[in-house]
Amino acid sequence: MRKSYVLVVLLVVVCIALAGLLMKSRMQQPVAATNAKPGLLAAVVAKPIFKYGLNLSDFKVLKHVVKQNEIFADILMQYNVTYQTIDFLAHESKSIFNLNKMKAGNNCTVLCEKTNNGLVPKKLVYEEDKVNYVVFNLDDSLYTYRGQNKVERKHQEVNGVINSSLYETLESNNMSPTLAVRLSEIFAWTVDFYKIQQGDKFKVVYDEDFVNGESVGIGEISSAVFNSSGKDFYAFYYAKDAAHEGDYYDENGNSMKKEFLKAPVKFSRISSHYSLNRFHPVTKEWKAHLGTDYAAPFGTPIMATADGIVEDACFKIYNGNYVKIRHNGQYKTQYLHMSKIGKGIHPGVRVKQGEIIGYIGATGLATGPHVCYRFWKDGQQVDPLKQKLTFSDPMPAKYKADFLAKTKATKQRMDAIVYQAPKPRAEKAVEDVADNYDSKYTLLRKDF
Ligand SMILES: [Zn+2]
Repeated sequence: MRKSYVLVVLLVVVCIALAGLLMKSRMQQPVAATNAKPGLLAAVVAKPIFKYGLNLSDFKVLKHVVKQNEIFADILMQYNVTYQTIDFLAHESKSIFNLNKMKAGNNCTVLCEKTNNGLVPKKLVYEEDKVNYVVFNLDDSLYTYRGQNKVERKHQEVNGVINSSLYETLESNNMSPTLAVRLSEIFAWTVDFYKIQQGDKFKVVYDEDFVNGESVGIGEISSAVFNSSGKDFYAFYYAKDAAHEGDYYDENGNSMKKEFLKAPVKFSRISSHYSLNRFHPVTKEWKAHLGTDYAAPFGTPIMATADGIVEDACFKIYNGNYVKIRHNGQYKTQYLHMSKIGKGIHPGVRVKQGEIIGYIGATGLATGPHVCYRFWKDGQQVDPLKQKLTFSDPMPAKYKADFLAKTKATKQRMDAIVYQAPKPRAEKAVEDVADNYDSKYTLLRKDF
């Protein structure tokens, strides 16, 4: 009797303990898991996220990056969109977006309905670039439309001290590397970007466009100063009026650009143009001719087409006697088949525009007296006659007073900027929020 009583008590105690444990474990479970209703999820994700003009909180957001050779149909079929729908959309969207222009690496976002019966895609958003996107509506009605992200233009004033290259300095300071390209263009004739030294400094004032906190491009650089080897080089953007495109001038109103002479020889005629395919009179072969031939009588002086430093002045079997001049970090010119190289023209010698560097001849691979003029831009031989070398005219006197008045204050402002290591730029915004949202949602879904 007593034994069975003890057993009953023990059983009751065990049952209570078990029940307690069970209750405790239930209480520890997330709310979402015990109330697995889609309606509640919307309430859990408090803040609506807007992107592409849509409330992303209404959808299950799936990210997709267009793969190599992946076409529109491939993408949609992965999300169970019927071929019929894809075919219809492909036709319907023709006037709005050329589907063949979808690029590998670009982002797509598939917005699906939140149901428990698998994914039901409602919209596909393709990002053409950081600003422009195309929305394909996959709902009951099929249609396509374009949209643009809101671009926010910000005034930027940055500066930096170079420790390696300009590019790396910009990058390590979270500034757009595009600035390096733009600065090297503006200062092409004043600063040698291949010889930048540690300690060289710069200040730049410009506009930058942002979408959702992410930089999407550089606007106009309004002013810049480059301090190279302890010397300041200023550049101010100036347009005489709104109807004309402006250009860059130094603090005295002198153009930042220098002009090339149209031809290295006076009173000559072009006997052969730059061509990627021409019949060579000597070799009798069809071959690229990367120079422009100026025919002139033997002994006619050949001039440097712009200021620079002589890089080569020698004889080579095909070139004959030739001179190569380095003008700046971007441009070089070369003059072939000279009868004689000019007096004092040696590597390392500085030459002025129009200075005589040699005389017309037919040395090397040439049939008659001419100079083969070769024009190098960024290490590539290009056609000088096709380059945009229509360099700015000197500023007319009537604009100069206006320019000087306007830039005086700008220069003072620039000078007041103290060189320092710029602060890192703000991180990316909405895209990441959307990512978080997606992962959060997925996390909750696991508990279903
Ligand atoms: Zn030639």
